[in-house]
Amino acid sequence: MKITNVEVLYLRLPAIKSQADSGQDAVVVRIDTDAGISGIGEVDSNPMAVKGTIEGPYSHKITTGLREVLIGQDPFETERLWYRMYDANVYAGRSGVAIHAMSGIDMALWDIKGKYLKMPVWKLLGGGFHKRIRCYASSLFGATPLATGDLARRYRDQGFTAVKFGWDPMGQNETNDIALVREARNGLGDDADLMIDAGLVWDAKTALQRARAFDDFHIFWLEEPLRPDDYEGYRKLSEGTHVRIAAGEEESNRLGYLNLMDRGKIDVVQVDLTRCGGFTEGMKIASLAWDRGLPVANHGFTTYINVAAALHWLNSIPNALICEFVAEEETTLREELTHQRFRAKDGYLEVPEEPGLGVDLNEEAVRKYRVA
Ligand SMILES: [Mg+2]
Repeated sequence: MKITNVEVLYLRLPAIKSQADSGQDAVVVRIDTDAGISGIGEVDSNPMAVKGTIEGPYSHKITTGLREVLIGQDPFETERLWYRMYDANVYAGRSGVAIHAMSGIDMALWDIKGKYLKMPVWKLLGGGFHKRIRCYASSLFGATPLATGDLARRYRDQGFTAVKFGWDPMGQNETNDIALVREARNGLGDDADLMIDAGLVWDAKTALQRARAFDDFHIFWLEEPLRPDDYEGYRKLSEGTHVRIAAGEEESNRLGYLNLMDRGKIDVVQVDLTRCGGFTEGMKIASLAWDRGLPVANHGFTTYINVAAALHWLNSIPNALICEFVAEEETTLREELTHQRFRAKDGYLEVPEEPGLGVDLNEEAVRKYRVA
């Protein structure tokens, strides 16, 4: 089997709100083969930069569009192709956008392999740890502490036993920060897990003060309180509190994760398969975390392609902690983009059993929303 084409589909709602979830647009990679099998993957990054990284022309040996180095290759050789792509952009792309682009490609290659062999990706990865995976409802904070409490109650009523709130208005002042977490806990009750995603708002000492204050409300983890490159700050914070510190969604490739784990001493390793280098790299990151005794969770705030990928991956590693899941059914691309939709039941998501990723593009939605 040979790769015959690699294409980036950029889909976008006609009007984008500043507070929409990340389903307001989507970048999908589609790879075709001479066997008539096509695979899809997703990238959560700067859309047109991804398109240029993949569809751009050959410039020279170590700067080239990734499509150029994939055409004619065997899609089964995911490990070799990962390094072929890495070498093809060795100074422009060892982290960031090029690794993001490679993530969508790698995901699509695994989708092709699964469809060809009629097996789900998790089986090809050697997985099978779970039939279903516990998930948490992932949400932005309400506009006020009381509104956050109402949201928490709603997620509990939907059957979730774990809920995360994140970003604005966290970080405005100490009183409001603490009230947001207090009301989230009030809404949730005492018998559910509460995660707090600070959204990159503090320095290490402020984060340490908040971690201590939030401890009164038994939070399960405190996520991304610092700017991503402040590995020393992460170390000070992690060593100064017994609250679990979670991070990783801003990283691409395993070296960034080594920094977070070994320098930053984080407790929960968060991996977005649409950014980290795909399944091929995601498996290695999970393994490095396992060696350090650390649990991992996915990061995912985009479409059901990412949700499916996360479930295959979490089902293939020994240290899967929980699955991030956006439970809000907003009017975004997500509900239309794929034929399959995921719904949590009693706070769990079923692992897909269909070949490949187990999700297919709805071509009608592609026609409707494609802008590039
Ligand atoms: Mg986050």
